[in-house]
Amino acid sequence: MTDCVFCKIVAKQISATNVHEDELTLAFMDIGQVNPGHVLVALKAHAENLYALDETQAAAVARCSARVARAIRDAFSPAGLSVYQANGEPAGQTVFHYHVHLLPRHAGDGMELTWPVKNPPREKLEAYAARIRARLPR
Ligand code: 5GP
Ligand code: ZN
Repeated sequence: MTDCVFCKIVAKQISATNVHEDELTLAFMDIGQVNPGHVLVALKAHAENLYALDETQAAAVARCSARVARAIRDAFSPAGLSVYQANGEPAGQTVFHYHVHLLPRHAGDGMELTWPVKNPPREKLEAYAARIRARLPR
């Protein structure tokens, strides 16, 4: 995609600080660095979001993420690591080229995700699950 910043990083038309690449994925430092060691794992091919991934691409991102996450753990010894991935503006997506954040975490680091639980009754869970199950590929 011509005006996509991550496509330009993959094509080396704009510079980024890369940490790892394979045939399908590129891992590079997030320019914002919420905490030191904050890495993005992106598909090399342009895909807007999770919905657009085929199974090979999804597996490749998972493999690269696990590999780089262990290296971040060994390099920075964070107390924790958040894996964050946003699809669509309301979810917080700002770059519309699929990517996963690997974000080292420390107590009191100011990173927040509010989690307003609803704790619905079990029947609601069953109804929600049935709607999803009915739409899964066989
Ligand atoms: P999103 O909000 O879509 O989940 O995350 C997009 C991320 O891309 C942000 O954390 C932002 O700092 C990062 N980002 C945006 N533009 C650039 C860029 O040109 N280079 C790098 N390395 N990261 C970028
Ligand atoms: Zn792109």
